[in-house]
Amino acid sequence: MKKADIVLLKYGEIALKGLNRPMFEQRLLKNLSYVLEPLGKFSIRKSQSMIYVEPLEDTIDMDLAIEAMQKVFGIVNICPAVSCEKDMESIAKTTIACLKEMDTEGKTFKVEAKREDKQFPLNSPQICQQMGGAILRNVKGLKVDVHNPDILVQIEIRKKAYIFTQKFAGAGGMPVGTNGKAALLLSGGIDSPVAGWMIAKRGVALDAVHFHSHPYTSDRAKEKVIDLAKIVSAYSGKINLHVVPFTEIQLAIIDQCPKNYLTLIMRRVMMQIAERIARKNNDKALITGESIGQVASQTMESLAVTDHAVSIPVFRPCIGMDKEEIVQISKKIDAYETSILPYEDCCTIFVPKHPKTRPTIEEIVEAEQSLKNLEEMIETAISQDEVIVIQP
Ligand code: ATP
Ligand code: MG
Repeated sequence: MKKADIVLLKYGEIALKGLNRPMFEQRLLKNLSYVLEPLGKFSIRKSQSMIYVEPLEDTIDMDLAIEAMQKVFGIVNICPAVSCEKDMESIAKTTIACLKEMDTEGKTFKVEAKREDKQFPLNSPQICQQMGGAILRNVKGLKVDVHNPDILVQIEIRKKAYIFTQKFAGAGGMPVGTNGKAALLLSGGIDSPVAGWMIAKRGVALDAVHFHSHPYTSDRAKEKVIDLAKIVSAYSGKINLHVVPFTEIQLAIIDQCPKNYLTLIMRRVMMQIAERIARKNNDKALITGESIGQVASQTMESLAVTDHAVSIPVFRPCIGMDKEEIVQISKKIDAYETSILPYEDCCTIFVPKHPKTRPTIEEIVEAEQSLKNLEEMIETAISQDEVIVIQP
């Protein structure tokens, strides 16, 4: 294909947003320029429910640019196109030149046309018919197949004419930042990065909170969480990652509370700390990677006990998913290879042999009573919160 001089981006759901639409579109443009900025200079503009991205420097790697745009929520399709004047002669010349640069021998094609500019003298079927004829006459080895073509030649008549044969899937969803911000409890596992990605997909910006149990969890475990936050941030934009020291609290729980409640009490304290960090940072909810029944701390009873520790909404987008389904998303977003690297998590060290799977809130609250100075320890942990700014 002749080198694309422009990329057409189509957005879906945000077109439905009525009066809020300009806000959604502005955010989408801003998010796009944020991911494209490191790759070079681009002109990014919107006109009639379409975004036009034009590279302004020859040195720009358009494959990388497309990859970056595929991570921007709110975009449905990405079409690298060649533009030309809006007359049939130029369109035919450009289309034929494009096809001649492709391997067309023995292949089939179909032309699809869309006429956004209703002043254009030919209607869509007429454009298809004329262009189909011109292609057959000028490009050897190509045959028409209207049902299952190898090459779909698409022509859109707008301010100019745009010709393209490739369409990449966008990430869908809504532009990040159009639905507020939430705090992701990010561990080094498979589930929590997926959970963050899923909520970011709905337009929610992210902060992240990670509990670190130095020296029981290593610096490598922390590095791994930073890497995972970076992977998620390619989709969600900037993330402030709060690394909270958890060792003192954890040792106190292990020392002072009944063994079979350890994990649940730890989780409840994590949630309380995350809630306070969330409220300070204007996050409207917590996000976790929990899924019903995955482990003892994720039975419905355990989840109820965890919820009971906080008064902020807790989003668990993986709640009804099988591990395999979560793994599929993890691979799709390129987090999997990092997530499966060996690491110690503060939840996995010191796991009790017989964790409670059907706890009641009364039992847990009572078991927690044995914990001395919890409030002080929480305050201390929060005051030692290390904030790492993660950029994609
Ligand atoms: P993941 O694969 O995300 O680690 P998991 O299946 O291993 O999840 P748990 O270890 O029980 O499950 O953790 C459940 C959820 O609690 C995680 O998805 C994450 O949201 C949160 N969580 C667990 N450990 C930590 C941690 N050290 N720091 C922050 N959040 C954590
Ligand atoms: Mg985990």
